[in-house]
Amino acid sequence: MESIRSKVSYISGLIDGLKIDESTNEGKIFLKILDVLESMAEEMENMSEAQKYTEDYMDAIDENLAYLQNDLYDEDYEAYRGDIDESFEEIRCPNCNDIVYVDKDMLGQRENVTCPNCHTNISIGDTDAGGDNKK
Ligand SMILES: [Zn+2]
Repeated sequence: MESIRSKVSYISGLIDGLKIDESTNEGKIFLKILDVLESMAEEMENMSEAQKYTEDYMDAIDENLAYLQNDLYDEDYEAYRGDIDESFEEIRCPNCNDIVYVDKDMLGQRENVTCPNCHTNISIGDTDAGGDNKK
């Protein structure tokens, strides 16, 4: 942007230095063109500043959005994990090693569950395969 301004200044100096006669048709046109160029240089400077401001603003919004997303997802995840831990028991299928989540209410009512992965019957009483056995 600085270069446009300096180029316009250079032309302005050139017109002054060449002693262009302002009373001639050519002189009038040169001065009009110079006037337009100066206006355009100024206008573009303003636009550039406005764009810079918008970019900074967008960056700030982007950052805030990222914080919000992190917070939301963290809370969702914690809530989800908390739910699982509270009402479900992790049981490892002895056949395929898949983790099966069993509703704790079901533990008191049933002696075994069917693995959804390999359809093996897993004995719930087998505490060796329970969720407390984490490595
Ligand atoms: Zn299985």
